[in-house]
Amino acid sequence: MAPRLLGRLAYGSRYDRVPWNQRVYVRPGELLVREAQWRWLTRRAPVMRLADYQQLRPLKAIEEFLSCMMCGDSRQQLLFSPGGNGWRYHVVRCPACGFLYRNPGIRPERLGDLYAIGYNTFLTGKYAANRQRRYELTMQAFSPVFDEGKERRLLDFGSGIGLFLELAEQRGFDACGVDLSPESVAQANDRLSSVPTYLGAPEDVPEIAAGGFDVITLWSVLAHLPRPLDDFAAFRRLLAPGGVLLILTVNARSTQLKAYGPAWNGFTKNHLMFYSSQTVRTLLGRTGFAGVAFAPHYGDTVEAGTSRLPGDLVRRLRRNVELSDGGNMMRVLAFADEEAIGRWGGGPLTVHRLSA
Ligand SMILES: [Zn+2]
Repeated sequence: MAPRLLGRLAYGSRYDRVPWNQRVYVRPGELLVREAQWRWLTRRAPVMRLADYQQLRPLKAIEEFLSCMMCGDSRQQLLFSPGGNGWRYHVVRCPACGFLYRNPGIRPERLGDLYAIGYNTFLTGKYAANRQRRYELTMQAFSPVFDEGKERRLLDFGSGIGLFLELAEQRGFDACGVDLSPESVAQANDRLSSVPTYLGAPEDVPEIAAGGFDVITLWSVLAHLPRPLDDFAAFRRLLAPGGVLLILTVNARSTQLKAYGPAWNGFTKNHLMFYSSQTVRTLLGRTGFAGVAFAPHYGDTVEAGTSRLPGDLVRRLRRNVELSDGGNMMRVLAFADEEAIGRWGGGPLTVHRLSA
């Protein structure tokens, strides 16, 4: 109630009709306030040694304590303890590199315990239509890389019920998917007769382990990976010369995260790690990728042109997302090697070169 009242005092009623997840980008001065708030929070949170942090909380059977996977620093700052219906976890920040992750994390061999039966059933209906629109907008943001799939092999990692594979096939890609959920794989193979989806880890599926992919896609998968360095080293091996990797994930620099803290919608039940443009560069550099490009995420309705915001507020929202690197999602295109940069790096994409 108090923040709402403060907002009303500061801004009057002009922004009442702006959806809450867009307000932080359009109210004058709000970015500055949220950035200051974040700096205050990260300076104030005590830096703890891992041994001391471990004393604080009991460990469940499926959990493990972690050091920072991006830079190896074992110190921790506890920032948030988000939770919902029957779940709660703790999000720490690495004081050395700023990486945000859930600690304790989930032991990789127990990951299946997070995904109860029925997980795939909510991935249909309206959710499916929204998802597919989001895939289209992301591919458009990296145009022309995904415009034409002919004679290009594509692997969708964590392909679920095959919503993206369906689009990939329409664009002419020689596509396949892999997923850890037997239910999802069965459903995908029922729905899409000409695009195979395999069950298991990529190295366990001979058709995938052979590699030679021109494109690998990770749609809302990165935040779920308990061993990202191992997985990305594997993706790098699976890519053909000139290959690219596409990532859509929640953005740890999101202005919405800075504004809403533990109530941020990126802290979902099964998310383990939260990347920014900075920490995703570390991940890609350490696993042998040559370059990376980013496409700011303005929100689905703004990009689809269906937002009800007046034109001046749309322009302000776009500008503020770019200025702050604070879009709620992060869209990343990683280039396997120099050949990939040469092939796709021209035009509107700014490629940042990476070093190991
Ligand atoms: Zn770190």
